[in-house]
Amino acid sequence: MRANVLRSVTLATALAAGSTASLSAQSDDASRLVGALLGDTPMVRDLQTLTDEIGGRPTGSPANLRAFDWALERFREAGVEARKESFQMPGLWLERSARATVKGKGVTFSPKVAALPFSTGTPAGGLTAPLVDAGKGAEADYAALGTKAKGAFVLIETDELLDLDGLFREYTEAGHIERRAIAAGAAGLVYMSSRPGNTLARHNASLGFANRHPMMMMERDAAARALRLLREGTPLTLSAALDIQSGPAYQTHNVIGEIRGSTRPDEIVVIGAHLDSWDLGTGALDNGANSAMVIDIARQIHRLGLKPVRTIRFALWNGEEQGLNGSFGYTLTHAAELDRHVMASSYDIGTGRITGFFTGGRADMAPVLERALAPVAALGPFAHINIPIVGTDNYDFMMQGVPNLVANQESANYGPNYHARSDEFGRADLRQLRLNAAVAAATTWGFATLDLSLRRHSAQQVDSLVRNTDLADQMKSFNVYDAWTAGKRGLRP
Ligand SMILES: [Zn+2]
Repeated sequence: MRANVLRSVTLATALAAGSTASLSAQSDDASRLVGALLGDTPMVRDLQTLTDEIGGRPTGSPANLRAFDWALERFREAGVEARKESFQMPGLWLERSARATVKGKGVTFSPKVAALPFSTGTPAGGLTAPLVDAGKGAEADYAALGTKAKGAFVLIETDELLDLDGLFREYTEAGHIERRAIAAGAAGLVYMSSRPGNTLARHNASLGFANRHPMMMMERDAAARALRLLREGTPLTLSAALDIQSGPAYQTHNVIGEIRGSTRPDEIVVIGAHLDSWDLGTGALDNGANSAMVIDIARQIHRLGLKPVRTIRFALWNGEEQGLNGSFGYTLTHAAELDRHVMASSYDIGTGRITGFFTGGRADMAPVLERALAPVAALGPFAHINIPIVGTDNYDFMMQGVPNLVANQESANYGPNYHARSDEFGRADLRQLRLNAAVAAATTWGFATLDLSLRRHSAQQVDSLVRNTDLADQMKSFNVYDAWTAGKRGLRP
C-alpha cells in the first residue's frame, strides 16, 4: 500500500511538472547517489581520523579549531566549495583538570571526577567542605538535610542512564535539582555518574554560562561507596580542585560546504551536524559520525556530477554543546535569506537506525518526506513525528519559522555513551551509519529537487507552536526560553 501511495504521488507530481522525463532523471540521480553512499567511500576513514587523530574537540579548544580546518580541507579535497563562517560564542568554558579526595574517619579515597560544563573553578588549592547525602535531590531530600546542606557539597544519587528516555529525564530533572541545591545554600553539587563503573560524562550545569557554583560528576562506584559510608553514619568531607579555563564572548566559526542549485540557486536546503564535541571521549557518536556523513554526502554528489535544482548547504556546526550557538549564528548571518530556506535538517543521535523524522509541528513536511524517501524505502519503514524538538541545531531554524527536520533514530548505544569517556570510534555502528547516510542523502536530494511549496512560518505561527505544544518546557530545559521571550532569539509576534 505504501508503494502504491508513493507511486500515485510521484505520478501526480510528474503531471504537475509537465515532464515525466525530468522526474525520472531526478529519481535516477537519487538512486545513483544512494548507491554511491552505500559503497566503499572515505566516510569511515574520515570518522576514524576525526576521532583518533584529532580527538575530543570542545568549542574554544585547539582540537576544535583543528577539526574545523580538517573539515574545510575534506570539502575542498572533494571539490566541494566550502568556507568558514564566523559567529559569536557567548563565553569560553574548558576543563583543564579535576581532582577530588573523599575523607572520613579512617578512610580516604580519590575518585575520578569531571567538572560539569559551566561549573566554576575552585581556588587553586581546592575547596574542602562536608559531603552530604542529598538523595535524589528532591524537595523532600533537601528538607530532610535541613541546615546540613548549607556550605556543603551535596551528593546526588542517580539512576543509571540506559537509553534516550533516561537522557531526557536527566536533563529535565537536573534544572530542579540544581535550583534546590543553590536555594539550600550548598557550596557545590556532586552528581553520582549515571554511567557504569568509573565512566564519567559531561552533563551541562543547567544554568549554562550563568552558573556560579562548582559542580561535578563523580565516578559511580566511588559515589556509591561514599553514599554507603554516609548512610552508615560516617561523616565525610570532599576536597575538590577544579581548574577551569573560562572567558568572555569570542568569535569562532562553522564550516559550510555548498553545491549551487542549477535552476533555483537562491532556494536553499541545509543538511547539518555539529562537529564540536565534549572531550572526555573523542566524540564519535556525538557527533563525529554524522559530521563525517554530511561531508560524504557532499563528496558523492560532487563526484557523480549531480546537479540539484536548489542550493544545498552542508553545515558543520560549532558551539552546539554550549547552547546551539553555531546554528544560531548562521540564522543571524543569513537572516535575509531565511525566507528562501526550503528546509534545514539536523542529524545528531549517533548511529542508531533512522526511523523517520521529527517534523517540528509542520504537517506539510510529511508528504515531501514520503516522496524523498522513496528511493530508500527498503531501508524503512519510516514514521514521522510531527512535534517540535529542542536540543540540537534545528532549534533556531524552527524558531525562525523555517521548515526543519531532526532525524529520529533508534536509541541504540547513544544514551550510555552520551558525552562520556566511552564515546569512541569503536562504539559507532559503521554499517548502520552507511545505511543512514543513504537515507540522509535521499532526504536532502528530495528537498533539493522535488516540486514543493513549503513556506516559512510567521511569528504568529511560531508563537502558536510554543503555546500549543510542550515547546516552552523543552526551551526551559535547554536554557533558551528567556532569550526567546526577550526577543533575542527566534521570531516574536
Ligand atoms: Zn550532539
